[in-house]
Amino acid sequence: MKNLPNAKQAACFDTAFHASIPKVAYIYALPYELYEKYGIRRYGFHGTSHRYVSEIAAEMLGKKPEDTNIITAHLGNGGSLTAVKAGKSIDTSMGLTPLEGIAMGTRCGDIDPAILFYLQEKGYKTQELKNICNKKSGLLGISNKSNDMRNLTQLAEQGDELSKLAIEVFAYRIRKYIGTYTAVLGTLDAVVFTGGIGENSFIVRQKVCKSMEQIGIEIDEAINAKVRAKQADISKVNSRVKVFVVPTDEEVIIARDTYSLANQEN
Ligand code: AMP
Repeated sequence: MKNLPNAKQAACFDTAFHASIPKVAYIYALPYELYEKYGIRRYGFHGTSHRYVSEIAAEMLGKKPEDTNIITAHLGNGGSLTAVKAGKSIDTSMGLTPLEGIAMGTRCGDIDPAILFYLQEKGYKTQELKNICNKKSGLLGISNKSNDMRNLTQLAEQGDELSKLAIEVFAYRIRKYIGTYTAVLGTLDAVVFTGGIGENSFIVRQKVCKSMEQIGIEIDEAINAKVRAKQADISKVNSRVKVFVVPTDEEVIIARDTYSLANQEN
């Protein structure tokens, strides 16, 4: 500010896209006063990525975002899914913190909260429990080998049972969220895969989309197997719901928002 006194500053929040989530989806079934006193509610994360890929998916559908219902799956070392209705986030799997939702590289995602009370009674301290849930769980926790999907895929191919289980649990949790968000959206036009795993792992995409014909999701296995780190439609021609791979680009959203903020009158 000293050297550039006339420069405008902008902040882009990763939670901003989720500001449209309705109260029914962001309120936890805890005493309401905890929300009032401490702001305990679902906030969600990866908003910039979910927004970007849902906008690209609408373009790929040849529709305006307002005319689409889309589920976006950002699958990286951290991961979350979002239900995007008419271009707006209406629910997302991360919560007050990025710990809630699907299983991640080292985070546990959804668990029964009573597990923590049980472990506390067994002598675990709060800091240890935080460390277990954030740094020692997820793909790493189940496999006891790695949080990296590339390593786990290789280990699974070599017959490592816990690596196979870690990948299965990872895909299963995502399937559950797709089912839930299909119900929440009412109708579904597209599912989008993004993030390091979503963009690159055809195996994860295949496991997630397996046997989903009932809700209209059918991927073309041959196309899926070839897609890595590029924008593509991996669904069968007749699939009622389109399945897209879209490399995320959070910087584009940040640049556009900054540009539009910088041009606003004070
Ligand atoms: P991100 O946090 O978006 O950078 O994603 C990191 C995750 O993407 C790690 O678990 C990586 O193993 C995974 N990833 C990156 N490249 C590949 C690949 N070619 N196949 C499978 N997973 C990959």
